[in-house]
Amino acid sequence: MRNLINKLRREQRLENEEWKQLLEAGKAEREGGAVFSLEENDSLLAYSACQARQVREEIFGKAIYIRGLIEFTSYCKNDCYYCGLRRSNKEAERYRLNQEEILSCCRKGYELGFRTFVLQGGEDGRLDDQWMEQMISRIKNEFSNCALTLSVGERERKTYLQWKNAGADRYLLRHETADSEHYKNLHPKELSLARRLDCLRNLKDLGYQTGCGIMVGSPGQTTEALIKDMEFMKMLQPEMVGIGPFLPQHSTPFAGEKAGTLEETLFLLSLIRLMLPKVLLPATTALGTVREGGREMGILCGANVVMPNLSPADVRKKYLLYDNKICTGDEAAESLSSLKKSMEKIGYEIVTDRGDSPMKKEREKHV
Ligand code: SAM
Repeated sequence: MRNLINKLRREQRLENEEWKQLLEAGKAEREGGAVFSLEENDSLLAYSACQARQVREEIFGKAIYIRGLIEFTSYCKNDCYYCGLRRSNKEAERYRLNQEEILSCCRKGYELGFRTFVLQGGEDGRLDDQWMEQMISRIKNEFSNCALTLSVGERERKTYLQWKNAGADRYLLRHETADSEHYKNLHPKELSLARRLDCLRNLKDLGYQTGCGIMVGSPGQTTEALIKDMEFMKMLQPEMVGIGPFLPQHSTPFAGEKAGTLEETLFLLSLIRLMLPKVLLPATTALGTVREGGREMGILCGANVVMPNLSPADVRKKYLLYDNKICTGDEAAESLSSLKKSMEKIGYEIVTDRGDSPMKKEREKHV
């Protein structure tokens, strides 16, 4: 199996059958009780992590980019079976920040050293395209040396263009799964994989630094579905990939489902780094939720981004995609100094930088 990891590092691709062997071997190892450890060099997970770290360091050195996450609305018109923000969740406490509140999150973040802001939210019908356009312009006018990432779901191409013209730089839209049957198991019938993928192609085409991604261990996820995910990512060539474990939320149809595991997420992070060496790869909040120190382990498996929470403290516990979300500790932007220390402890350094994709810089060189 190490040969396959070596091949992935060398060629940044595997054949379908090779993916199957590698993913199945990782699964067998986890079922045998393997846990992540840097010292345990016999395991496939430790070996892939070590290779992924080397690749990451060749490209990004020891730098860790930080993004200030502003979860600005918890209203959502969608009804995804896994998500605590789904419209049928009557228990969810809904909130929506106004533009002044969002700007004050950015000001606080800027002072702390953030040079990227991520506006993430449900698909909130009240916040129309013009409202978003105005919000984007206001942020970019006040923080002209910062990057702005949007993560507000599926929109028309013309809307993505309007927001790009207003100054948005990046867009995160996890594809969730590249297998259409699996997609149907996770979403109600009004949502389709074809439309989600169309949105991603439009974002790429319009020049956004684009992020796709999946939940690891989501209900019904098979090895075949994961292979399709890897092949889709290879084809899309995203600048960013967001993956984290699926975690159940008690008032969704998936309340009783098993959570995705730390080890599987770490293994996939390292394989994604080997397949897409230049990708911006966050160690997500969900990873920090599934195990204490999970984000640091993510960094040790090839991730190079963390996204501390810049939302006002009183709304953080209302943005509950899943249960037990960490929302008072090191994931919070105020705790940046302790995050810095924990990253230094594992040999990495948080930098004050927009942290653009190297793919963007290369494109600009050729213009
Ligand atoms: N509405 C936007 C969208 O659809 O892309 C952005 C917000 S959405 C809540 C952000 C991401 O949260 C989703 O793409 C999904 O992968 C993740 N998510 C939702 N529920 C989750 C759960 N129960 N466990 C882990 N991740 C979850």
